[in-house]
Amino acid sequence: MKAVTDDKQPAPADTPIEQQLYAIRQKIQPRSVHGVFASWRIALVLLTQVLYYGLPWLQWDSRQAVLFDLAARKFYIFGLVFWPQDFVYLTGLLILSALALFLFTAVAGRLWCGYACPQTVYTEIFMWVENWLEGDHLARRKLDQSPWNANKLRRRGLKHLVWMLIALWTGFTFVGYFTPIQTLAAEVASASLGPWETFWILFYGFATWGNAGFMREQVCKYMCPYARFQSVMFDSDTLTVTYDSSIGEPRGPRSKKTDYKAAGLGTCVDCEVCVQ
Ligand code: SF4
Repeated sequence: MKAVTDDKQPAPADTPIEQQLYAIRQKIQPRSVHGVFASWRIALVLLTQVLYYGLPWLQWDSRQAVLFDLAARKFYIFGLVFWPQDFVYLTGLLILSALALFLFTAVAGRLWCGYACPQTVYTEIFMWVENWLEGDHLARRKLDQSPWNANKLRRRGLKHLVWMLIALWTGFTFVGYFTPIQTLAAEVASASLGPWETFWILFYGFATWGNAGFMREQVCKYMCPYARFQSVMFDSDTLTVTYDSSIGEPRGPRSKKTDYKAAGLGTCVDCEVCVQ
């Protein structure tokens, strides 16, 4: 928020305030969390990725089980073949998916965001790599602040190498849903990829690398259309993970023996662990 006034001169009460809608990203090194919901997320990340990376390699009646052959205008999904005139099924499927998304959001909040959205899933995978190669949140903060030296170069270089390999594999798999993946793999091996295949593998890989490695929550805040209208599906009964100021405030440290209600405090001990 930026007042259109000199910093030293407080703005008169009726001065219009200019609001900035964009905030430059502050780098966050989040603490790892454990528990039931974090375990669910790990399970869902693994499940969605086994499906995503594995499906194009499945064969069905001597052809790829799931293949969207745009050139031949035929979509193969296991035993089914869809032609352009079958588009109505896709429309129906999209309507059902949208309604299911609205229902689950209204009942249980940001389920999609937390467990299945590609932005969450790839950010989570990239953070596993970060945690593995650079250490926990404290070690990563220390590395951020340290000057460039052999250790920092090696850790950062390795991290980006692994991120790029994952991103390229993701781009390759994406194209493998539109071009038979076995042919695509042979083309990659013989360095004879077509220009469009090369473009899409690199473009999708680059988007994965940039979104999961650098932009992270900026995608949710500024780019995602779902985030724009999520709040209209919320009501006071929707489950959300958020700070409840009505029970947390007034915050403050206290000894375990203190009766916080008698001391005029809320439940928040102001430890800041929830925002690390
Ligand atoms: S806000 Fe959008 S991009 Fe972010 S996790 Fe939710 S659906 Fe994904």
